[in-house]
Amino acid sequence: MPAVLRIALPVPLPTLFDYLPPAMGEAGVGSRVLVPFGRGKRVGVVVAIEPAAAVEGSRLKQVTRLLDDEPLLDAELMQTLAWAADYWLGAPGEAYGNALPLALREAKPLPLIGDEYWSLAAAGHHAHEAGNRRGGSKALLALLATAALSAQELTERLPGWREAARRLAAAGLLERSERPPADQRPPPSPAPQLNEEQQQAVATVGASLGSFQPFLLDGVTGSGKTEVYLALIEQVLAQGKQALLLVPEIGLAPQTVRRLRQRLGVLIEVLHSNLSEGDRARAWLRARAGTARVILGTRSAIFTPLPQAGLIIVDEEHDGSYKQQDGFRYHARDLAVVRARALGVPVLLGSGTPSLESLANAEAGRYRTLHLRARPGAVRPPQVQIIDMRAQRLEHGMSPALLAAVAETVARGEQALVFRNRRGYAPVLLCHACGWHADCPRCERPLTLHAGRRQLICHHCDYRQRPPQACPTCGAGDLKPQGQGTERLEEALVTLFPQVPVLRVDRETTRRRDAFEQLLETLADDQPAILVGTQMLAKGHDLPNLTLVAIVGVDEGLHCIDFRAGERLAQLVVQVAGRAGRARKPGRVVLQTHQPAHPLLRSLLAQGYAAAARELLAERRLIQLPPYSHQVLLRAESVRREDVDAFLASARAALPQDDSLQIAGPMPAPMPLRAGRHRAQLLLEAQSRRSLHGMLRSWQTALAALPLARKLRWSLDVDPIDL
Ligand code: ADP
Ligand code: ZN
Ligand code: ZN
Repeated sequence: MPAVLRIALPVPLPTLFDYLPPAMGEAGVGSRVLVPFGRGKRVGVVVAIEPAAAVEGSRLKQVTRLLDDEPLLDAELMQTLAWAADYWLGAPGEAYGNALPLALREAKPLPLIGDEYWSLAAAGHHAHEAGNRRGGSKALLALLATAALSAQELTERLPGWREAARRLAAAGLLERSERPPADQRPPPSPAPQLNEEQQQAVATVGASLGSFQPFLLDGVTGSGKTEVYLALIEQVLAQGKQALLLVPEIGLAPQTVRRLRQRLGVLIEVLHSNLSEGDRARAWLRARAGTARVILGTRSAIFTPLPQAGLIIVDEEHDGSYKQQDGFRYHARDLAVVRARALGVPVLLGSGTPSLESLANAEAGRYRTLHLRARPGAVRPPQVQIIDMRAQRLEHGMSPALLAAVAETVARGEQALVFRNRRGYAPVLLCHACGWHADCPRCERPLTLHAGRRQLICHHCDYRQRPPQACPTCGAGDLKPQGQGTERLEEALVTLFPQVPVLRVDRETTRRRDAFEQLLETLADDQPAILVGTQMLAKGHDLPNLTLVAIVGVDEGLHCIDFRAGERLAQLVVQVAGRAGRARKPGRVVLQTHQPAHPLLRSLLAQGYAAAARELLAERRLIQLPPYSHQVLLRAESVRREDVDAFLASARAALPQDDSLQIAGPMPAPMPLRAGRHRAQLLLEAQSRRSLHGMLRSWQTALAALPLARKLRWSLDVDPIDL
């Protein structure tokens, strides 16, 4: 009796599919196979091989074709993916869909991972000697007559050679081959002499290379974390091992990549969301082959094969972009810890503002904490001052004290950063006569005024319209923009400081990937300037002449219903403030608020992030919120509100009787209407992760079987980060 293959297919169903082995070849766990599915064919991954007796029914279809001679995914990656699919309630196929680059999910030969070379076949030598070809073909034959050449060399010497190569190869005159990537290493640039804390951190992590141990590297931006990463990666490379460095999307600035390349002098694979599919697949395969020694990437790079793993690093581990917010809702930082355990290597989580989850893990002794307190380059930490803006005469939302600080800074020839986490001109357009304001018809939330005053845009669904000339309710012509976005601040600052360049940095001004860096590069290091922008400004390359950070408003974040709002606000304020005084000049931070006595702001500014985080953690413990409890969120949305309500009511009824489970809802989502769809949710909470996870799969299956499940959009989110 033949065995049965259990296969993960790229379909959103939480099951594996059984097939009979292919007629040719030996499929192993981790091999890709082409199988008949429905009316077509799909590429799947063999997850398990079962003895035939274990599977019912003998009418199984057969695998059409085995795609790989040896498994593409190794045992560790298979095990990690199975764990991840189980933990985040993904369909097995979805987990593989995230792990494998798109080009590897097709029934095509694997792309070349080395450099592409062309040479003459025997027939090609004859043709060259006979001299019976013309034009490009003749030139190409002549070029290759003495030696094989790489595609890169050919492009340099004979533009348009590919067309000729295709013709000649089809006629059997040329051969294409692959060689290991040429080592074009620049000479490594020297490392700075590490300070004592950096040395301590490197020594501690270095001592646990070769075994699993999570570390939390706690150091503000500019404290020298990257130098610690680099020193450790050098050790890992010296042992002949691979290193994986994860960064948030915004952290992949060209400057960072250049710095790594220069310092390490080895081939560094960079994986990010803008890579072409071919390049992504090649990078993945080079990591699998072990030719890529250092892999630098954003969230999905956590799925890179690491056959010779030495170390995993997660920079800015608190960053929300590590959590995937649709489809397979995994968390790359958490998965990094799981993978490090499976691989038996240390994992280093770095941040100046660690997540409360990681701080709780450190407190519980699961992570070891390393501190970097000194800032190598800086004179001293920035001075922080709260400006009470109550009863002040504001100029476009800016208090006299804030504007005075900006004026002093630019008068000294230095640069100021004016921070406001709201893009557009004004968040609300209001009728002064009757109180009407412009709302999105699809979300019932205020529309933001943009482009001077020429467009109203919904920041939730991108609905756009022209602003009305007069109030649609009372006809008054007195429509007033309320509040300030970055555009309005830019306009005001240009008027107030006509002699200083004002640079706005937000999603509108930096649509292209490297536009942000290019914008910053236009700033001269020795000239005054004013930067206005959103949280994009919290990162990016060093601005040595930036000495003032002026925070215009964070009050929205102080009374937000999401229990994580305080943590996020603290992280953002500290990250932005960290931009001031990075180099030799002392920095200053001013924060204006209507709530100068707010306890979070007070402890944050008086005692720093660590103290504020301790208070937030104590609060979470007291009311038993994550990380001291565990949550799963069921979201549902539909244009028909009654469907959403009925689905969630049945979902609640399908829950097992269990006293350890707290259930909140069904309740409206924080945005009950979005893009015309009604949204609601059901929140499950438990003290024990195990008891929560114990019932989830069967509940998920019950949900999928509900008649309404096919009529609306719904999803389960394990450890949601926004409620
Ligand atoms: P982080 O990653 O924590 O933001 P970096 O490692 O980028 O910090 O360091 C900030 C700046 O200080 C960089 O320009 C870096 O080259 C420099 N630097 C870091 N460590 C040292 C050191 N020990 N001596 C001198 N300069 C250092
Ligand atoms: Zn009106
Ligand atoms: Zn909208």
